[in-house]
Amino acid sequence: MSLVVVGTVAFDAIETPFGKTDKIVGGAATYAGISASFFTDKVKIVSVVGDDFPQAKIDYFHSRNIDTAGLQIKQGEKSFFWSGKYHMDMNTRDTLDTQLNVLADFDPVLPDSYQDCEFLLLGNLTPMVQQQVMNRLHNRPKLVVMDTMNFWMSVAMDDLKETIKRVDVLTINDEEARMLSNEYSLVKAAKKILAMGPKVLVIKKGEHGALLFNEHEVFYAPALPLEDVFDPTGAGDTFAGGFIGYLARTRDISFSNMKRALIYGSAMASFCVEKFGSERLESLTHEELENRIQLFVDLVQFDITLD
Ligand code: AMP
Repeated sequence: MSLVVVGTVAFDAIETPFGKTDKIVGGAATYAGISASFFTDKVKIVSVVGDDFPQAKIDYFHSRNIDTAGLQIKQGEKSFFWSGKYHMDMNTRDTLDTQLNVLADFDPVLPDSYQDCEFLLLGNLTPMVQQQVMNRLHNRPKLVVMDTMNFWMSVAMDDLKETIKRVDVLTINDEEARMLSNEYSLVKAAKKILAMGPKVLVIKKGEHGALLFNEHEVFYAPALPLEDVFDPTGAGDTFAGGFIGYLARTRDISFSNMKRALIYGSAMASFCVEKFGSERLESLTHEELENRIQLFVDLVQFDITLD
């Protein structure tokens, strides 16, 4: 069994009301891969970087048992670069720059050792590449989770819809759910999106938690009320990595186990936002994670007697 994570491995430049970074390592697969590695030691990344990407970060992936055989390094080319600026509410942001660089003609390679993939996370990147990865796996994984963002809805909506058709779980934020469905009500949006193919939909609402829908049920996980949110970049990817990581560890893809996975994903995301980039995830311990899960349990536990 392995958990294959596809997505960008990138450089980001981030500006929040609390500070600004130069180019730091980010990318959807970076956050999702590190997050998933807290749940299983069988995480394998598919991505591409240029020769400007630091070897130290690749060494760090290895130190967490993350397999990088599917991470291509293109000599003489530059890594994907994204820059964004957060508004005061920290829930909304403007993309200032997206430079595809190596991503522009990325042809994903799946080493033979990745063919044991049972859990596939199609993290945020070109929808056609997400499809190619599915095509190149000889057996359909037990579970395919897909994450995406508004950028791809603007530049590749048709490809995106084709990809969405083939996945089991889609995770997007509230603004993206509205954009994809043309519905303002998230309940109506969920109905329309589930009709596009996925059996389960997660709508992430930043500091307001996340909703989990299937055809008949809905479940809500809060976000932990944090005193300081320092940098929300990567929270969505970290959430997705924790969500599928937990499902892979427990090997149970029932809706009731997805509820638990939603809490684990939310807990991982709550750490991600505490520092710039992936810094907080890199210092995280299992004990801190378990303590935070307990905070989530306490946050929503109440007794009501109905007469
Ligand atoms: P999130 O905050 O979870 O939406 O993820 C932010 C991460 O996504 C950053 O580290 C970026 O490098 C990466 N990213 C930004 N734009 C894109 C894009 N269009 N495709 C793939 N990854 C992106």
